[in-house]
Amino acid sequence: MKRVLVTGSSRGIGKVVADVLRAEGYAVVTHSAKSGGTDLVFDVADRDAAKKAIDADIAANGPYYAVVLNAGVCRDCGFAEMDGEAWDDVVRTDLDGFYNVVKPCLMPMVLGRIRGRIVAVSSASGVSGNRGQVNYAAAKAGLVGAVKSLAVEVAARGITVNAIAPGFIDAGMSAAMDAEAAESARKSIPMQRFGRPEEVASLVSYLLSDGAAYLTRQVVSLNGGLY
Ligand code: NDP
Repeated sequence: MKRVLVTGSSRGIGKVVADVLRAEGYAVVTHSAKSGGTDLVFDVADRDAAKKAIDADIAANGPYYAVVLNAGVCRDCGFAEMDGEAWDDVVRTDLDGFYNVVKPCLMPMVLGRIRGRIVAVSSASGVSGNRGQVNYAAAKAGLVGAVKSLAVEVAARGITVNAIAPGFIDAGMSAAMDAEAAESARKSIPMQRFGRPEEVASLVSYLLSDGAAYLTRQVVSLNGGLY
């Protein structure tokens, strides 16, 4: 059975992605920051903790076929009011998390001659920018650069590396928006609705499928026509 690590799969989009992949027959390894009944528990911003937990899981159960980097946080506010902590929290979690999680996963994948998949969950904000999200957009845009570069380095081994850039999804952080902001966001979307987490899962599932073996170094947007 193909093993897939989905970070941040205790709730929100990651939980739905994990459930869908499990239903499709993958052996899903779930993860969260706090013990939420997940297989692995570590802070993705903590490099040593991430390496320790991932090394132990791989040593006990074997390398991953795929890694879905979904764990993320946002700390939205205007740049004028943004304190250093709000910048650091988001960049350390959403961008440094890429290095901290992918690094220990990659060599076991390569040495196992697995034609694997790495999928980073970026955001529409990382592609187009967004008011109140200078920190988040910077981290999510950083992921795009990391993905596009790593894709080139591992392409000859048949490993694909892509980012997905969801717009407003009806789960997790977007579900926390106040009603007025949500309605204004909905009106700005050509499809006039938020995406469903199942629609994100369906895209991840495609990227993990045999049919997507030639799709690499890309950012796939999923946003109801937002841009
Ligand atoms: P949620 O806030 O619902 O869930 C976040 C998940 O990430 C949780 O499982 C949480 O674990 C985990 N997590 C957060 N911080 C850390 C950390 N430091 N270390 C380890 N795990 C952590 O988020 P969403 O489902 O809304 O978002 C999932 C991803 O999708 C994020 O990367 C987000 O940026 C991206 N995204 C979301 C959109 C949306 O509209 N919802 C739109 C575009 C992108 P725990 O339960 O332990 O806190």
